[in-house]
Amino acid sequence: LEKVPSDIAISRAQKPKNIKVVAQEIGLTERETELYGAYKAKVSLDVLKRLEHRKNGKYVLVAGITPTPLGEGKSTTTVGLTQALSAHLGKIAFANVRQPSQGPTFGIKGGAAGGGYSQVIPMDEFNLHLTGDIHAITAANNLLAAAIDTRMFHEATQKDRALFNRLVPKKNGVRKFAPIMFRRLKKLGIDKTDPDSLTDEEVTRFARLDIDPATITWRRVLDVNDRMLRGITIGQAPTEKGLTRETAFDISVASECMAVLALSNSLEDMRERLGRMVIGTSKQGEPVTCDDIGCGGALTALMKDAIKPNIMQTLEGTPVFVHAGPFANISIGASSVLADKIALKLAGTEPHENEAEKTGYVVTEAGFDFTMGGERFFNIKCRSSGLVPDVVVIVSTVRALKVHGGGPPVAAGAPLPQEYQTENIDLVRGGCVNLAKHIANAKAYGVPVVVAINKFSTDTEAEIQAIREEAIKAGAEDAIAANHWAEGGKGAVDLARGVIEASSKPKDFKLLYSNDKTIVEKLEIICREMYGAKDIQLSDLAKSQIETYDRQGFSHLPICIAKTQYSLSHDPNLKGAPTGFTVPIRDVRLSPGAGYLYAKAADIQTIPGLPTAPGYLNVDVDPETGDIEGLF
Ligand code: ADP
Repeated sequence: LEKVPSDIAISRAQKPKNIKVVAQEIGLTERETELYGAYKAKVSLDVLKRLEHRKNGKYVLVAGITPTPLGEGKSTTTVGLTQALSAHLGKIAFANVRQPSQGPTFGIKGGAAGGGYSQVIPMDEFNLHLTGDIHAITAANNLLAAAIDTRMFHEATQKDRALFNRLVPKKNGVRKFAPIMFRRLKKLGIDKTDPDSLTDEEVTRFARLDIDPATITWRRVLDVNDRMLRGITIGQAPTEKGLTRETAFDISVASECMAVLALSNSLEDMRERLGRMVIGTSKQGEPVTCDDIGCGGALTALMKDAIKPNIMQTLEGTPVFVHAGPFANISIGASSVLADKIALKLAGTEPHENEAEKTGYVVTEAGFDFTMGGERFFNIKCRSSGLVPDVVVIVSTVRALKVHGGGPPVAAGAPLPQEYQTENIDLVRGGCVNLAKHIANAKAYGVPVVVAINKFSTDTEAEIQAIREEAIKAGAEDAIAANHWAEGGKGAVDLARGVIEASSKPKDFKLLYSNDKTIVEKLEIICREMYGAKDIQLSDLAKSQIETYDRQGFSHLPICIAKTQYSLSHDPNLKGAPTGFTVPIRDVRLSPGAGYLYAKAADIQTIPGLPTAPGYLNVDVDPETGDIEGLF
């Protein structure tokens, strides 16, 4: 077995370059680089304007086959592939990854900086606070949560005119609307600028949101796996006059504010998206938005630095954008549109340059397997950004294919059964039906596909050869073994060459569905064409929610289906490439700021818990050096 040291030991052993040097190397000006210590910086969105004339670099999407609970190495491959492209083949190449949540870092999964000799460093800064974006999202989310309950309290305890007079107070003897209030006046069709000229009826309509407490979907968030907050009662202090309400916390990265951050195309776009987030329904059945509450501006203020992508580096000193991290369980599980856009310009070519020779590469990742993560990436993220990947890389491993071929289950923390330690070509070949379905699904978007076989020390040549044959039969351009975990970028040079070649092939990009389809049609298309289902079955709750969204005018949104990542279907026990199943749609939720509806095909926790032996048990700080120990 190879002696590869622990991730933190590898990370610590490599002295990173000062981030100023990385910024200079990728062509950022000093004004565009906002330093956060020596190894992290934020990048100004002004770069987009300066480099508007450039042709974008090549856009590479890394996704995976249906994984085991151990993870099959998508992040590791994203980092290893860019190290190969950049440090070994002399291309400009960016890895664009998500910022991990502290919940999983201290819980089961551990950090998410890649692994072995393909990592983002310093991995402790990457995995903990970074530049505070998740904290900013937490603050924004919770300001809105506090505003909702406080507004209901004030509405319950004051008469209309008194409420209005407090909302629109006199300053220097003159009553004036705050500038932000003109958004609400416009929505209500009240074309007046002098607050004193509103009729009683207009005063009531303006001041009273009449939120139906039973319909509030906006929850409080924090970035801790604190399962005890899955159900709480608020308002129990005597000062709240009996206005108690049952609600819950979500993990910060599940906040719609995070999805907004990931999908915004500009600061202005983020402002509009935050303003149109819906927090619940009024007693009259109308959606109540963040801007109705008057919070859209303040939330934007809290997130105005968070919108700037962060740069860090890999172990081999190549650039990495770390930006946004929407919770893959219920959201898109991809990093931000803005980081991709900036990186594609920095990796792009000037009009006079020979594109084939000079183009750079932006390698980004879609959380979960291609069929879920890649589908969301195309139909939600690319629809929002207008960007189109040039090639899809599907990461597969011998061990996951053996599971799909009928091997015994594998679990995190348990020893791997014998089948996974010795050669078994039949299991691998049998499991390739799963890989073939992901390849076919990716090809449905009209983009070339390359399979990356992420090599483990127990894999044999014959097993790898079997995967290559099956992948090419299924329509992949190539299937290439890569050993970047053990060797760094050097181990992924063949893969990088294959990606360069495939990325110059012609593409015929198409989305899976048009937004004009009904909500039910969209659900059916995803479940049938991507998952292999026969049908969907809507719960009564889902039917009534869909009716409400149709009536409220939200049926044009694309759909993010939340389901298990351990099967192509909704049932984690169905391995391989199952067909003929019916996907139960239990619940459909609205995220109009993010710009999608999400449908739950499983009971998905929006705040994970901690295991009996959580990650935090290993973490400590060396009092001499101040270094963090034990963070994987
Ligand atoms: P994903 O992004 O698909 O969840 P990661 O890249 O985070 O997967 O990898 C999951 C875990 O497996 C990490 O701890 C990583 O260090 C480890 N890992 C990845 N590739 C290999 C490999 N080829 N050999 C050994 N361990 C690996």
